[in-house]
Amino acid sequence: MKASRMIIPTLKEAPQEAIIDSHILMLRAGLIRKLVSGVYNYLPLGLRSLRKVEKIIKEEMDRSGALEILSSAMQPKELWEESGRWNKYGPELFRFKDRHNRDYCLGPTHEEIFTDLIRNTVKSYKQLPLNIYQIQTKYRDEMRPRFGLMRGREFIMKDAYSFDVDEKGLDESYKIMYETYSRIFTRLSLNFKVVLADTGAIGGNASHQFMALSDIGESNIIYCENCSYAADEEKAYSHAPTLEKEELKDREEVLTVNKHSIEEISEFLNLPLYKIAKSMIYYAEDSKQYGMFIVRGDYEVNEIKVANALNSSEVFIRLASDEEISALCSIAGFIGPVNFSKCQIFIDEEVTKMSNFVVGANKKDYHLVNVNYKKDFDGTIGDYKKAKEGDLCPICGKPLKSERGIEVGQVFKLGTKYSLPMNCTFLNEQGKTLPMVMGCYGIGITRTFQAIIEQHHDEYGIVFPLETAPYHIVIVPVNYDDEEQHRVSDKLYEMLNFKVETVLDDRKMKIGFKMKDWELIGIPYIAIVGRRASENIVELKNRNDNSKVELTLDEVKEFIIDKVNNLK
Ligand code: ATP
Ligand code: MG
Repeated sequence: MKASRMIIPTLKEAPQEAIIDSHILMLRAGLIRKLVSGVYNYLPLGLRSLRKVEKIIKEEMDRSGALEILSSAMQPKELWEESGRWNKYGPELFRFKDRHNRDYCLGPTHEEIFTDLIRNTVKSYKQLPLNIYQIQTKYRDEMRPRFGLMRGREFIMKDAYSFDVDEKGLDESYKIMYETYSRIFTRLSLNFKVVLADTGAIGGNASHQFMALSDIGESNIIYCENCSYAADEEKAYSHAPTLEKEELKDREEVLTVNKHSIEEISEFLNLPLYKIAKSMIYYAEDSKQYGMFIVRGDYEVNEIKVANALNSSEVFIRLASDEEISALCSIAGFIGPVNFSKCQIFIDEEVTKMSNFVVGANKKDYHLVNVNYKKDFDGTIGDYKKAKEGDLCPICGKPLKSERGIEVGQVFKLGTKYSLPMNCTFLNEQGKTLPMVMGCYGIGITRTFQAIIEQHHDEYGIVFPLETAPYHIVIVPVNYDDEEQHRVSDKLYEMLNFKVETVLDDRKMKIGFKMKDWELIGIPYIAIVGRRASENIVELKNRNDNSKVELTLDEVKEFIIDKVNNLK
């Protein structure tokens, strides 16, 4: 490809809308342009790269035995009512009506569609197991679209759904996808970790996330260096470092005028945070249920665990208002579990290990001190706190670490969550009708594409791995008007073009500008045709380490063809 015929709209400055490196670089390198919030146009250089990410994913999915189909983004309400998600999904679902006033949504995910397709196509155990997938555009009206393609409202996903005769079959399908994902992210040159995950709005009973490690990641990973434990913070389970047990004292009421926050109480009573228990009342809009959650003062409440305890999902959970708290016979800032019976009390298990601690007295300007679980109050014991670095590993007991990650993929064991309500059944060997046992598996392709850039860049721009670079090599004459340089550039172009993906930078621009463009775009190899053109010698710059070597045209050809052939 000749650069003069290409669209290379590079920018010198970072546009204001972008904060993180990969987003800035994608805009500056002219890979994408924003249409509206969370919606992007993919320009030629960006699209070439994105298609390569897709190709690797497709190759590995095909290798795993999965079958590709293509479904519609437009989905009828009726299917979502069958699964019970039409009302459950919340404001992230883009809904609309057709001219006949029928309701539809733009698919944020496709469980209903694939379940419907298979129940109408597959009847017998002989046709199972099956794993079908698609690469398709998804729509989610995200509350905060941000970081470019990382959290878009329109994005491309690879989604796959497996159908098995029983749990054992599902375990096998899940394992195959787990291994396939590991191969995909390795081929994509991502530094990633696989972590245990919450099942969220998709539902089901087991899940893992694939996290590309990065400081700008929106997910927090809690992991153990000593054993293999690693989990998303939403799911992570840990033990707080143990507290010494004390002899139980009698509880007393103390005046705490205008001391609402846990920090104020701690300072006022001169007690460490772990001697205070935090009580928070949450409301689930969908299950219409209140719950009081008690955690140790030096921990946060994990709202995903709250949502699970209230049979709800994250989007429907909120803290109760001051008025609602009063209606429940408590008072904001002074909430506590003692003599409280207006809603269910959920007690984090760490609280059961505390002794002689402080809680709100459900009375303005009062707290209770020397409170103890069982002696003074009771409730449902569970895991409701946010795990944090320094906590002890639930498997081996060693201190846990934390790290940020970008969720690039997730796999779920769905079981019969969709097949039961949607009647997706098969006949087994004995002629008995049974629900299929399902799994689902997603990769955010556009997010993965950006994660590659987030992990592969330097001060000059993107440093694409060869596998996903828009082109393999660019030939840059220092001065294309120079007869010798012109001849050698054209010759090298002829030698390489159609063997490897080659660009000839024939633009009438100063060498400095041309080099800046290609360094920003991140083409892995740059052949600079200059001073020694008459000897058929060029300088080959490796964008990965910015090193340069002088090579003959034949040597360049051999080198780059070898590199590209080794990719497969
Ligand atoms: P998140 O927690 O980041 O919102 P999710 O858990 O809701 O993601 P899934 O339903 O598991 O996402 O979707 C599968 C994959 O699609 C995710 O692993 C992620 O890579 C990608 N993805 C999800 N939401 C978005 C989005 N708004 N923009 C781009 N990619 C997304
Ligand atoms: Mg997910």
